[in-house]
Amino acid sequence: RSAGDVVRFLLLQGEPVTATQTLSDDAIELFAAELGAKVKLVDPGQEQEAELYAKYFSDDDIVPQGEAEWRAPVVTVMGHVDHGKTKLLDRIRETNVVAKEAGGITQHIGAYRAQVDNKFVTFIDTPGHEAFTAMRARGAGVTDIVVLVVAADDGVMPQTIEAIDHAKAAHVPIVVAINKIDRADADPNRVMQQLSEYGLVPEAWGGDTIMVELSALQNLGVDDLLEQLVVLAEVLELTSTKVGRAKGVVLEANLDPGRGPVATVIVKQGVLRVGSNLVAGPAFGRVKALIDEAGNPVHEAEPSTPVQVLGFSEVPSAGDEFRETAELSVARQIGSMREQRIRLAGLSAQSGAAPGAKLEDLFEQIKRGETATLNVIIKADVQGSLEAVTESLRKLERPEVKLSIVRRAVGGINENDVSLGAASNALIIGFNVRPDRRGREAAEAQHVEIRTYEIIYKMLEDIEAAMVGMLAPEY
Ligand code: GDP
Repeated sequence: RSAGDVVRFLLLQGEPVTATQTLSDDAIELFAAELGAKVKLVDPGQEQEAELYAKYFSDDDIVPQGEAEWRAPVVTVMGHVDHGKTKLLDRIRETNVVAKEAGGITQHIGAYRAQVDNKFVTFIDTPGHEAFTAMRARGAGVTDIVVLVVAADDGVMPQTIEAIDHAKAAHVPIVVAINKIDRADADPNRVMQQLSEYGLVPEAWGGDTIMVELSALQNLGVDDLLEQLVVLAEVLELTSTKVGRAKGVVLEANLDPGRGPVATVIVKQGVLRVGSNLVAGPAFGRVKALIDEAGNPVHEAEPSTPVQVLGFSEVPSAGDEFRETAELSVARQIGSMREQRIRLAGLSAQSGAAPGAKLEDLFEQIKRGETATLNVIIKADVQGSLEAVTESLRKLERPEVKLSIVRRAVGGINENDVSLGAASNALIIGFNVRPDRRGREAAEAQHVEIRTYEIIYKMLEDIEAAMVGMLAPEY
């Protein structure tokens, strides 16, 4: 229908509009009913954006024909508080980052590259699993290897176990750094024994986990760790290509009073250059300058290289994917569409966490004939009930419904469980335990479903009901 038809119709309905005005959803529905047409309301801009995205970033276009080349592994350091994560990162930065020009002082840009012989290892400069999980929740898996720092005097502690869970849920291999071996009470053997209980068995004992004993404080064994990372990277066959348009992930970003939006990105593919046109979330722009970890301007950044980007129109969010476009106008068009969609949806770009799995959705999955997988995190009051709950859940498994236990532990449901739940699309089951306040708030914000039970058969009833699509809603 022409704009004139619409105007005429609405006028008859007592709604005077002009042809340049935007119609409300109600008005459109009214008009459609008149025509006998169906209306599909979609998120404003979303469809157009999807079309544009497909047009400019179709896989045929991005999968470049270039040769796969070795790329540096991207490493995140995790572990319990005070076990030496920061010290280790500092030590490596001090001794292995080549300050490329005289007087070059290493800067904290969020990541850096350490040189090992003629190869590189890229370290994410923020230790701990929070950033790791936040990135993963946004679909940005950037870490190739997790270095798990365990203090030899303290052994495996709660956050050590959390870190193992996070790495495993993300299918990222773990290299263990047994730190503080200079301490008189250091007991690396005890650490290995404890880790073996969590499935990390050292190579020396017939397992396949690389474990390096070191002292970040005294700079002992740190080189050995770096070499092991290079070897593992080769085994993992990490490759990329420098051909084709650049793409990668935004690690962190902020507004610099003097320089405008500054984003640290890690290039995953292609070569990012000064002058490249980019879009990352709603932000777009032409690269004005690239700055490396030594604070020096560089002309280009290859795969696995972290670099600060100047030239974005606004500050992108950590975890946003960035893409190079041939024309600045395309980057702008896609950026503005997203901007509009975000604004209209009243969402901030930061709150884009993936929703957790819902029990109600299970049946839908089964109906579609997919093998449904229910990801769960199980928390219980005591070890005994944890075992019992796990056992009985396992019995519900059948060919079409798989159960994947992302974490099981004794204790209340906290914020960490929720963030793991969001990142791995898991349902949280509490047995005789409840979420604490922050856990509850996080679950609401991140749309993670928590179900708590006091009786095992009630829990089994619910899950069985969900499998056949008969789940009663939870009030
Ligand atoms: P993080 O919380 O894991 O980042 O731990 P830090 O790197 O802040 O280290 C905690 C404390 O342990 C600091 O006082 C460090 O100096 C100390 N530390 C770190 N590595 C070593 C080490 O290899 N040996 C000894 N003796 N102390 C260390």
